[in-house]
Amino acid sequence: MTKNIFIILISVLFINCKQTTIAQPQEKTAEKTKVSDVAAIINFLASDELEGRDTGSEGLEKAAKFIEEEFKKNKIAPYFETYRDTFDAKGTATYNVVGFLKGTDDKLSKEFIILGAHYDHIGKGKEVDGDVIANGANDNAAGSSAVIALAKQFAQLKNNKRSILFVLFGAEERGLLGSAHLAEVLKEKNINLYAMVNFEMIGVPLNDKPYKAYITGYEISNMAQKMNEYAGSELIGYLPKAKEFQLFRRSDNYPFYEQFKVPCQTISTFDFTNYNYYHHVDDEASEMNFEFMAELINSCAPVITKMANTSDKEVKLN
Ligand SMILES: [Zn+2]
Repeated sequence: MTKNIFIILISVLFINCKQTTIAQPQEKTAEKTKVSDVAAIINFLASDELEGRDTGSEGLEKAAKFIEEEFKKNKIAPYFETYRDTFDAKGTATYNVVGFLKGTDDKLSKEFIILGAHYDHIGKGKEVDGDVIANGANDNAAGSSAVIALAKQFAQLKNNKRSILFVLFGAEERGLLGSAHLAEVLKEKNINLYAMVNFEMIGVPLNDKPYKAYITGYEISNMAQKMNEYAGSELIGYLPKAKEFQLFRRSDNYPFYEQFKVPCQTISTFDFTNYNYYHHVDDEASEMNFEFMAELINSCAPVITKMANTSDKEVKLN
């Protein structure tokens, strides 16, 4: 190398370095959840290999391991000593899988948002054409995929001032046992819970509604209004049937509401007309609308980000 070329090279390097130093920091954006990400999660959780993810089954164990791997891969920490929050489901040991992303703000990180979905299902169902496995794709591999995908987005960004727990509940189908257990444990620890957003049966779009999903317990808080304000669109609506069938009390949000008396509600798109396979062996991955799901998850991400970052707790009970 001649001296001149060496000097030119050094100059080029120097200029490049200088440019890098003075460049404005880019606004970080998370990679959006892809249709193929949602499909991969649901295709596994709702596969025949997992045999309907019944409490105490080997299939449920496989589902839990899969979720733990997803958390690990995406650098979501365990909230307890391990990801598993073990409890007794009427004589059967089972577990919630609990991931944790600490908030970035000294003060607000002491406040928590819980994003949840149950990952268990009922195992076997009434036989149809030789099929007995109730795969639980919509109920609730769908909601589980939302929590896993959101965990990945939040872990990439790390721009949540409040702390977030990502929880996949066990034994929901046995009577909300996993959520009842965790709500009690967290109440004993006296955590400062801001709100809980649960995802149930979001695999198929609503029929003829201006909004993408509805929320249970619509009237108990301003959560729907705030979510729409944060979204800048009509994302969340009111479904009269949800009230008629008291869905607010029928999923994992309810034990948290009972313990903490703060906004704890479920987002769903099951409207009693758009899906015929509730607790049915045909509740299969092939019935899911992955495009819709990815769209819904990607619409929820900025809304939850806003919830995690406002200086005051803007979502309140009415
Ligand atoms: Zn369910």
